[in-house]
Amino acid sequence: MRQLERQNLQTFKDQVQLQSYVQKSLTSELAKSNITLANRRIKTILNDSDNTNPAQIQVIDKKGTIRGTNQVNNQAVVGQKTTDNGVKNALYNGKSIEKNTYDAASNNRYYVSITTLIRSTGNSNQVVGVVYTKANLDQVYRQTNGVTGIYLFASTVAIVLGLIISIVISRAFTRPIEEMKQQTMRIARGDYSGQVHVYGNDELGQLASAVNNLSVRVEESHESTESERRRLDSVLANMTDGVLATDRRGNVIIINDTAASFLDTKDDVMGKSILTVLGIQDDYTLRDLLEQPDEIILDFSNDEQDLILHAHFSLIQRESGFISGLVCVLRDITEQQRIDQDRKQFVSNVSHELRTPLTSVRSYIEALSDGAWQDPKLAPKFLKVTQDETDRMIRMINDLLTLSRMESGTQKMESELVNINELFNYILNRFDMIIKKDDHPEKTYSIKRYFTKRDLWVELDTDRFTQVLDNIMNNAIKYSPDGGVITCRLYETRNKVILSISDQGLGIPRKDLPHIFDRFYRVDKARSRKQGGTGLGLAISKEVVEALGGQLWAESIEGRGSTFYIALPYEPLAEEDLWDEV
Ligand code: ADP
Repeated sequence: MRQLERQNLQTFKDQVQLQSYVQKSLTSELAKSNITLANRRIKTILNDSDNTNPAQIQVIDKKGTIRGTNQVNNQAVVGQKTTDNGVKNALYNGKSIEKNTYDAASNNRYYVSITTLIRSTGNSNQVVGVVYTKANLDQVYRQTNGVTGIYLFASTVAIVLGLIISIVISRAFTRPIEEMKQQTMRIARGDYSGQVHVYGNDELGQLASAVNNLSVRVEESHESTESERRRLDSVLANMTDGVLATDRRGNVIIINDTAASFLDTKDDVMGKSILTVLGIQDDYTLRDLLEQPDEIILDFSNDEQDLILHAHFSLIQRESGFISGLVCVLRDITEQQRIDQDRKQFVSNVSHELRTPLTSVRSYIEALSDGAWQDPKLAPKFLKVTQDETDRMIRMINDLLTLSRMESGTQKMESELVNINELFNYILNRFDMIIKKDDHPEKTYSIKRYFTKRDLWVELDTDRFTQVLDNIMNNAIKYSPDGGVITCRLYETRNKVILSISDQGLGIPRKDLPHIFDRFYRVDKARSRKQGGTGLGLAISKEVVEALGGQLWAESIEGRGSTFYIALPYEPLAEEDLWDEV
């Protein structure tokens, strides 16, 4: 704008300045001595030079007298002395002056130019006068302001248009970028469903395609890690062994359900040291486990349950040898330990059970061979004991054989459909018979029967089942006082036949009750042995009943009596099922 203003001013000045040839003419006129003629000529020159010149021009001679003006209605000044100090200075100094002045009264700016007119005569230059030009600059400034206004308006329009265009263009850039940002944030959240819109094939379009590609890739790899994790999870969850994994500091990072149930802990073991979790912090250090990953037997048995675990440790090692953790596999070896224990116990029981009768047989035989055989009173007694003990040993061996056959499955059940009311009656009748036939029974007892009226047909092996009932009845008699009542019941439920045999005997202490079906278990060893018991009867009975698909259990109040229950599977039969198909 400054430049425009300067340019305009310059153009204006050039415009108002008299042409040099005009100045030359004026110079030669001022040099003439005939003032009147010269003035007329000056007037003509000024009029001819440029009628359109807006400036006020005065031609002043070296004496300061105004010799001509271009203003038609101000010709009166011609011949007067100038009062302008600038003109006087210029005449005096012989130098042209050019200045802009401001007239506060009329609020106008003027351009004033005082150009000296110099005549060269020979070597010297002589000032003959000046041309005084005064022009109102308002028009120039108005014009400049007008142009400035247009320029400002144009600039504003350009800026507004520019802004609109830049917004439109930047939106064209930012929208895909914004979409991509949103998509990447969704990917980060784990939502791979969206797709970025590809607007074109430029860099942004390529970037959008790359983001879409990335989304698919990330989803694929996420899915594959997920399925990998699920597979690992389900492997771990379905393992019967407990698994614990730790980081390299030995803090638990993975624990499967089995391990958690073994250790009776849940998520709270996460991040804890494996040594404390397994309770081996006093015996082992992490270094021990890392340097010699080995096997440890852990005993977690408490009052409620037996639990013995076998812990096997191995290292999670990278190819570089860097150890990144430890895996501990826990196996429940309680059962195995129990079986081992049982086997040892069984062998020791058998040897003990056999040693006692053998020792007594030997001592009696020794006594006999030492001469007692000659004693007619003692000899038969001693022989009787020897015979009883031998019988007991044979019974025991037979029982053991039966048990072992049943366990190994070589003892086949000869199942047939039996009317259990009749079978039970038949067996009890036998016991009634014994007491009737025996004139001097060791013990008397009476049997009460409470049987259902309905005939119950059950599939079972008659011989084996008779053995079971014999055994329970014998026990009821053995462990009852003289004259006791034995109550036998038979009834059916929806899908079971229940037989119960109650006595009024010693009963079984609560602590022994769970064990009476174990081999060689007797509540009172001496008493049982005296009664000729082997401690195997109930064990065999249980095996038989279970092989028939039933259950055998006992209830007892110590001192008041015991009740043994047998439950057998039962299906009410239609009449025609009773007959074998021919
Ligand atoms: P046993 O040959 O010693 O009788 P069993 O296996 O038949 O062996 O019984 C195991 C133990 O259960 C017996 O030694 C006895 O202590 C207890 N027992 C079994 N039946 C009864 C009962 N009716 N009353 C009291 N105790 C019983």
